[in-house]
Amino acid sequence: MSTKNIEVIVPPREPHFVGDGFRVHNFIPSAYRLDMQRMDPFIMLDYNSRFYFPPSEKPKGVGVHPHRGFETVTIAYKGKVAHHDSSGGGGIIGEGDVQWMTAASGVLHKEYHEETFSQEGGEFQMVQLWVNLPAKFKMSPPKYQAIANQQMGEVELDNKNGKVEVIAGEYQGVKGPAFTFSPVSMFNVKLNQGGDASFDFPAAYNTALLVIDGEIEVNGESVVPVNHFVLFENKGEKFHIKSLAQSTVLVLSGEPLNEPIAAHGPFVMNTREELVQAFQDFQNGKFGHLED
Ligand code: MN
Repeated sequence: MSTKNIEVIVPPREPHFVGDGFRVHNFIPSAYRLDMQRMDPFIMLDYNSRFYFPPSEKPKGVGVHPHRGFETVTIAYKGKVAHHDSSGGGGIIGEGDVQWMTAASGVLHKEYHEETFSQEGGEFQMVQLWVNLPAKFKMSPPKYQAIANQQMGEVELDNKNGKVEVIAGEYQGVKGPAFTFSPVSMFNVKLNQGGDASFDFPAAYNTALLVIDGEIEVNGESVVPVNHFVLFENKGEKFHIKSLAQSTVLVLSGEPLNEPIAAHGPFVMNTREELVQAFQDFQNGKFGHLED
């Protein structure tokens, strides 16, 4: 068992807007070395760092659009977001909640600020991840998992260090509620000042973290400020984090699918032919129907 060292600490890129409701820093697939293969099965990560949205009568967000071939996972840290999709999935998530939408064979969906949040305005902070599906599940039926904060696995750390919320995977024997199609770990680590925690993932798994709040030290040597992303090497298994201020850290690790990726816009398939098919099916109305 050896230490998993940092490969690179990635600062947030200049933010851009997705629709008019999500002001995001893209980390995957556009930041340093973080292409879709490098963090496979995590093929996209947009991070809306804490941002104040003023009151708005019309909810801000992203209108109806399709997805096929993967899952979209939205983790809410501040603010509230509503989702509706053409397979009937939908709901509102707020602080601490997660929505896990399996697009698979295809859905149309829309993502908006929740109405009351919109009218009142407020701080908004979210992560959206795209988790790739193994080839054999890309054309499975769509699925929607609403994961409320209280449903998550919860591990209290020793010595009042804080806690680990398990969204997917397992930490110290406690499992997360998310159903996944390949081995994926997704934890929210909430550390008190000076609190610490250790993690252990197979060397081959692609592993990273994002500092959502506060500031941490990794493996006793590297200081990682808020809104920075840490990519770990695919060597060694264990790493250690210590908080230098009260901190929230998103920890991600997954077994690479090691399958070809053919991606364009909202579709992520294995071959170019499948991508062409996705565009044709979308144009022919095979993704169902959803009102604007
Ligand atoms: Mn979407």
